[in-house]
Amino acid sequence: MITAIYPGTFDPITNGHIDIAVRSARLFHKVVIGVFDFPKKDLLFSLEERVALAREAVEQHKNISVEPYTELTVDFARKCGAQVLVRGLRVSGDFEFEFAMAMMNKRLDPELEMVCLMASPNFQFLSSSILKEVARLNGDISDFVPDHIARALMDKHYPGLRRQ
Ligand code: ADP
Repeated sequence: MITAIYPGTFDPITNGHIDIAVRSARLFHKVVIGVFDFPKKDLLFSLEERVALAREAVEQHKNISVEPYTELTVDFARKCGAQVLVRGLRVSGDFEFEFAMAMMNKRLDPELEMVCLMASPNFQFLSSSILKEVARLNGDISDFVPDHIARALMDKHYPGLRRQ
């Protein structure tokens, strides 16, 4: 039985992230999306909100679960009994960062294998930060996130107002 973790900030989870999780779930028996509590960046959603939004996004996939974590990613992987760490690679700049992280994780836990999946063409230029910027300016984000996440973004930025 092979378990993979897919760690990240997921602030919020996007269709690009979901695509990676669903494709991983075809390769591995179990995928645990790990939502990291304390990233070094400004957050729009709390940990509880990010976990709840991600859970709703993957609820129909029986072998994908979502768990918060606060520790080192390699320790979270061990806690989940995972042999694989999945990350998504977009064309623009992810490689250098992922490579450095992979080297460090390998030092910290030589048993954990990292698998990178290439982002699908439709989501190559999608990031949570660009998405949040478009949502903040009341742009249409319906192609990039599930409906419940578009609603959650609207509610953050424009409480009481709903796009028709
Ligand atoms: P982090 O803060 O760790 O970069 P993110 O939540 O932003 O976490 O992303 C988690 C993982 O998903 C990273 O490997 C990132 O490269 C990948 N990812 C982000 N957006 C996309 C996308 N549109 N398509 C595929 N992978 C993506």
